[in-house]
Amino acid sequence: MHLVTTDPAARACPACGTFATRVKERIVTRPRDLSRGGSAVRIRWHKRRRPCRETACERASFTEQIAQTPARMHITERLRTACGQAVVDGGRTVVQTGRDLGPTWPVVMRATRAFAKQVLPETPPATEAIGIDETRRGRPVWKLDEDSGKWTLEADAWHIGFVDAIGGQGLFGQVEGRNATAVAAWPNAQPTWWSSRIRYVAIDLCATFRSAIRTALPHATVVVDAFLIVQLAQRHLADLRRRLTWKQHGRRARKGDAIYTVRKLLRRNAEDLTPEQHRTLTNELTVMGTYGKQILAGWKTKELLRDVLRLTYKHAHTAPALSAISAARYRFQAHCADHAFLPELTTLAETVDQWWDGIEAYVLTGITNAASEGNNRVIKLDARNAFGFRNRASQRLRSRSATTRRARREGVPD
Ligand SMILES: [Zn+2]
Repeated sequence: MHLVTTDPAARACPACGTFATRVKERIVTRPRDLSRGGSAVRIRWHKRRRPCRETACERASFTEQIAQTPARMHITERLRTACGQAVVDGGRTVVQTGRDLGPTWPVVMRATRAFAKQVLPETPPATEAIGIDETRRGRPVWKLDEDSGKWTLEADAWHIGFVDAIGGQGLFGQVEGRNATAVAAWPNAQPTWWSSRIRYVAIDLCATFRSAIRTALPHATVVVDAFLIVQLAQRHLADLRRRLTWKQHGRRARKGDAIYTVRKLLRRNAEDLTPEQHRTLTNELTVMGTYGKQILAGWKTKELLRDVLRLTYKHAHTAPALSAISAARYRFQAHCADHAFLPELTTLAETVDQWWDGIEAYVLTGITNAASEGNNRVIKLDARNAFGFRNRASQRLRSRSATTRRARREGVPD
């Protein structure tokens, strides 16, 4: 396709804006464009080089340019936009976009960055609750020290992600590094109007995150994800079960032992057990003797903790009252105190005490870090499609593109 432009603006000198009338020479450029009807279009653009007639202008001559193909661009704007859109909105990989639309990898990557800059807001959209979570970037790299013969950790890169915990607006940003300073850097970089609106921050049981929030978002309440508390209780219960099984038998549990019969029931929630299973659990452990009764006490501890967590509106269908929360907490604490000779339960009670404010905030608000988990799945999927990322900045860009895709399509209300 041979083209010339009739756009009058193409005659204007880019330096002074004077319209040129004469033609100095003719040149042919070959800008890439979108394909038409499935087949590639080869463009030959016959451009004119014109001298600038304004004597005060420094520019001696210039070639024609139009908005679709600015000077020195070998690709049309609409093709550039299509490339960026395919990666950022369409979730296509950079390599595949190049194959589908024509440009080389670096051109598609540049188009992706330009497109992302337009559609991903610099400042995250307003929200009242964010979630913080960490994902490992690639595998840790170990290096053998020849002299000492010891392996040392050379690279162990983590990305800390900040997500919208309640509004479904995806990932707001990511930082590298796991210490409190690195984590606090991101909220510190946001404008005051944005950070002042954050009321809750959902986190894992991670003291680093907690101290980062205290410095960067001192007015916000820390919320601990209940799922992690239950997970912790399950772990302590399993430790207790294993320790006491060894004490009883001097070996691991095996078929025929009472503890072997009920070990799976211990992991279940009280409300999910049939009356029959509940009887089996109690009877078998009672028959086992002292250690069995202690394991049963461990199970009861987990259930008392779950009673606290189940006071949320979502589970109880009524707004949780502070009195009910403290009563449930007291029952849990009293039970742990009665079994203070079991170190696993004492440790659990201590952890719950240390994180009590965050746990209570969870019960009152029902906010979880589930958004982080969901985003991590999307990020991992995106990384697999791309066969991993070499460049960390582009990984962060792609992660943000992937997790905000739905919100951008649906236009989540502010
Ligand atoms: Zn000029």
